[in-house]
Amino acid sequence: RRQNNPTAEALIEGILAQDISALSRAITLIESTNPAHSEKASTVIKGCLPHANNSIRIGITGVPGVGKSTFIETFGKHLIDEGKQIAVLAVDPSSGLSKGSILGDKTRMEDLVKTENAFIRPSPSGDSLGGVARKTRETIILCEAAGYDTIIIETVGVGQSEIAVHSMVDFFLLLKLAGAGDELQGIKRGIIEMADAIVINKADGENVKAAKAAKLEFNRALHLYPEKASGWSPKTAICSALKNEGISEIYDMILDYLDTVKANNFFEHNRNEQNTFWLKQTIEEQLKSRFYNQPQLEDELQKQIQLIKDGETTPFAAADYLLSLHSL
Ligand code: GDP
Repeated sequence: RRQNNPTAEALIEGILAQDISALSRAITLIESTNPAHSEKASTVIKGCLPHANNSIRIGITGVPGVGKSTFIETFGKHLIDEGKQIAVLAVDPSSGLSKGSILGDKTRMEDLVKTENAFIRPSPSGDSLGGVARKTRETIILCEAAGYDTIIIETVGVGQSEIAVHSMVDFFLLLKLAGAGDELQGIKRGIIEMADAIVINKADGENVKAAKAAKLEFNRALHLYPEKASGWSPKTAICSALKNEGISEIYDMILDYLDTVKANNFFEHNRNEQNTFWLKQTIEEQLKSRFYNQPQLEDELQKQIQLIKDGETTPFAAADYLLSLHSL
């Protein structure tokens, strides 16, 4: 039945006309693991590409419970009041297992879901972070072609996925909670280095004082880091996502950032670098998957493992041998 299976051209046309169901269907194609869908998905992405890129991409991370979805809801509503059209995506490589720990729960971002100018899509499920991240990057292109001018990408504060999100956004925001003085404990150095802003959430009621103290401490810590290639010195702020306090200031900060990096050309430069990064990343993934998917590989691999155990070869010689079986 034709209507249930629109052509790539029909999908592109629908996306450019801001037809949400065409957009959702096209994203489903991107997320599909059925090889028959991937060619069609590529055609749709190519068709959207000339209409993409006109957006601001904001990454938001923080540990579970820090208030990411509450923040995105309040922040998103503020953006919509400012006349923006927002798409909220997520990168959560664990979502296949945990049935969508972020954005999957329908009770999250309840108000935003109902807003016409907001499009919310849970994390694609996938076995690898690389796969999930690639799908999200392609989804960004589709959302931009559909006219969303602000793309928010949420991820959980648990390591690798933050690096992936950092390399697909223009601005990276780290949400934190005020602790008991030891603000810097348990925070990974790499994440501070990636952050363009550290925002202490839940700065309301009795928490305000601790939040202000935490802000000062993070500020001091940020000064210990070398200047960023963006020319932007990362900022700290406090907010209450629940009470909608400090939210507009955070958006103003992001606008300041954009002024800075557009003036010094870092914005453009960074997006080009990100594209190169994803090109290389994709090559690596494909090489790996082609290598491991060779039909005879598993047998040969087991044999080499046994030979290593028996002391008849080394891991390096075995790797050389296995790689030599592979022809691109
Ligand atoms: P996420 O796991 O990072 O997405 O966190 P949620 O947005 O689900 O928030 C976790 C809990 O913290 C919920 O009970 C929220 O109501 C609460 N919360 C979020 N933001 C604030 C805030 O600014 N102030 C207060 N007091 N509670 C908040």
